[in-house]
Amino acid sequence: MKRVLLKLSGEAFSDPEVKGGIDPKIVAQVAREIGELKAADGTEIGVVVGGGNIFRGNSPAAAGMDRSSADHMGMLATVMNALALQDAIEKVGVDTRVQTAVDMSALAEPYIRRRAVRHLEKGRVVIFAAGLGAPYFTTDTTAAQRALEIDADAILKGTQVDGVYDADPRTHPDATRYEELDFLSAINQRLGVMDATAISLCMDNDLPIVVFELLRSGNIMRVVRGEAVGTLVHAPDPTDD
Ligand code: UDP
Repeated sequence: MKRVLLKLSGEAFSDPEVKGGIDPKIVAQVAREIGELKAADGTEIGVVVGGGNIFRGNSPAAAGMDRSSADHMGMLATVMNALALQDAIEKVGVDTRVQTAVDMSALAEPYIRRRAVRHLEKGRVVIFAAGLGAPYFTTDTTAAQRALEIDADAILKGTQVDGVYDADPRTHPDATRYEELDFLSAINQRLGVMDATAISLCMDNDLPIVVFELLRSGNIMRVVRGEAVGTLVHAPDPTDD
């Protein structure tokens, strides 16, 4: 893969034992892996960050709030994660830009597609923050949208488990992992790959998704090099019956 869109959910930023907040060691590890990939393969990397480790518009913490206001808080949470990641990636010597879908010119550039692509071509990691800038969407849908806009080869969705299972492997020890999955099964079986809006966008535009364990050392590079890591969600092979 030459250009990828890495989706990091907010929970990827926090210690699984602690749940919530930003763990600087984890952010540093992700940054190191991104730096190693850039140095080894020169892969162009866009990143969409979530905010669920801090605030989600549809969570109990927002109970009673107007949903649009709560979602704006969720978007702001993604900006905090983006700034933490930017700092960590720059510490490993890779240039970055944060672009926000909500204008915050004191902190970051506004999202401008052509400018984002130019940054990628120049070797900068572009971190897309504040989601799509619209309530009722998620950062998974943002990942699909931005991946299409920058013409990424795939979405790499880093999670805490090593792929998509037929049941939650943390509570069902006999759950089995899919190596491959087609888009419709992922939507219909509600396998938790991404939300339905995001997967539909990928399906309609034939954009593959690789779900993989983020914090296993070297995994981002393995996925980019096409090794069989995690679960590949894509269009079914028309020659299969
Ligand atoms: N959000 C939004 N519009 C977007 C993206 C995100 O309103 O386009 C808000 C929404 O409240 C969401 C929160 O930002 O709950 C954090 O994003 P998300 O839940 O996708 O984060 P993740 O689950 O990846 O940590």
